[in-house]
Amino acid sequence: MKHLLRQLPAVHELQKAPQFLHTLSDTGFQSTELTKTIKDLLTEIREELNEGKWEGPIPGTTVFSEYIFSEARSRLGKRASYTLTRVINATGTILHTNLGRARLSRRALEHVAEIAENYSNLEYNLQEGSRGSRHLHAEKLIKEITGAQAAMIVNNNAAAVYLILKALAFGKEVIVSRGQLVEIGGSFRISSIMEESGAKLIEVGTTNKTHLFDYENAINEDTSMLLKVHTSNFRITGFTKTVESDALASLAAKHDNILFYEDLGSGVLYDFKSKNIGEEPIVSEVLKQGADIVSFSGDKLFGGPQAGIIAGRKEIIDKLKKHQLARVLRVDKMTLAALEGTLADYVKGKEGVAQIPVVRDLLKEPHELKETGNVFIRRLQERSSSYSATLREDFSQVGGGTMPDVELPAYSVALSHVSLTAEELARKLRLENNPPIIVRIKKEELLFDFRTVDEREEEEIIQALTRLG
Ligand SMILES: *Cc1c(COP(=O)(O)O)cnc(C)c1O
Repeated sequence: MKHLLRQLPAVHELQKAPQFLHTLSDTGFQSTELTKTIKDLLTEIREELNEGKWEGPIPGTTVFSEYIFSEARSRLGKRASYTLTRVINATGTILHTNLGRARLSRRALEHVAEIAENYSNLEYNLQEGSRGSRHLHAEKLIKEITGAQAAMIVNNNAAAVYLILKALAFGKEVIVSRGQLVEIGGSFRISSIMEESGAKLIEVGTTNKTHLFDYENAINEDTSMLLKVHTSNFRITGFTKTVESDALASLAAKHDNILFYEDLGSGVLYDFKSKNIGEEPIVSEVLKQGADIVSFSGDKLFGGPQAGIIAGRKEIIDKLKKHQLARVLRVDKMTLAALEGTLADYVKGKEGVAQIPVVRDLLKEPHELKETGNVFIRRLQERSSSYSATLREDFSQVGGGTMPDVELPAYSVALSHVSLTAEELARKLRLENNPPIIVRIKKEELLFDFRTVDEREEEEIIQALTRLG
């Protein structure tokens, strides 16, 4: 061992090796960092040699110095690696909350890149050459599409609900149907957010039935708001009754100081109902029915970035914009850019809307998925004989706590491996491939639903399966 210790190269020798410069240019690290990494490595190896535990290449050989540089490269690489990483979502669930909900449209991405790379008029009035308001961005397009008098953007819809209650109902009563006291994702409950905001929750009706007279009877001089919450993530069926938005709007309008606010949850701008997908009312319809104010998420069925979009009567929105919390809940320029890009897609009508991934994927027809599945199976079988793959009739979910009872007819590819179990293969796809591939497992088979997979990703999946199998 002693002679091996003596053969350990000195740091300054390694610094003179051509690989030193190569490693620097490949990793983009400073030479001090590489030197320190090499020193650490040599120290560890020295200790292991001393303890007789060293099992790597023999010091003094070319293999040894190659080992040092490759190990240093890998350690430096890890130091600068991201924890947030792209994945391939082969589950078919479009708004997978764990996988980042909506992916953005090309137009949204381009607008984000341009605004992020450059200075912008984020808070600058070009007309006047003076300070402007960030609240004006995206507002114009929201007004255009929804017909609202005014709009405002906050961090997410939870923030929107909070701001609205705090600014408009603090210390006052808000009437909500018992059937609409929703909890979303375990961390957002209408009742808790209400308590937090300082508004007093007045529950009316029963879980399955609430009538207009229930609201009427609950109104008193402390009432500030009627709140309708969209039951985004569950459905009460059977013997049920909810009060329509127009009736609540009229009831609120009869009283001077009572607002009607509808938390739409997902809030759609595209009429999925007309394609027989779900029953989500489009935002402009709800406003037409007389809601004073509505709010919805940017990254659910709207198909944009995480954001809370508030739209409605100008005097109310103005009040919200002036509230102290508006600053706390304000969004970044990149979010505004992504929203504007997505909204511009909507303004352009059918052609534009087809470019929004969430809408596009929701509208994919089973026959398209069947075709994609068949082509995939053929291509995989040409490249690898380790799998058996069959096409299955299946359903995709919308996800993100939206359209809970909607099952989108689909075809999935069911895959099994000659020797690996479904769990083992799923794990390999997650952990031994870059990007990680996320699949569903059902009855010992992996299911690939191509509704949420684009062509480039299809090829990546085939490559991964070929390599891992
Ligand atoms: C999803 C949802 C929210 C929360 O929206 P985020 O944008 O996720 O914060 C609030 N209310 C309803 C009814 C929802 O469906």
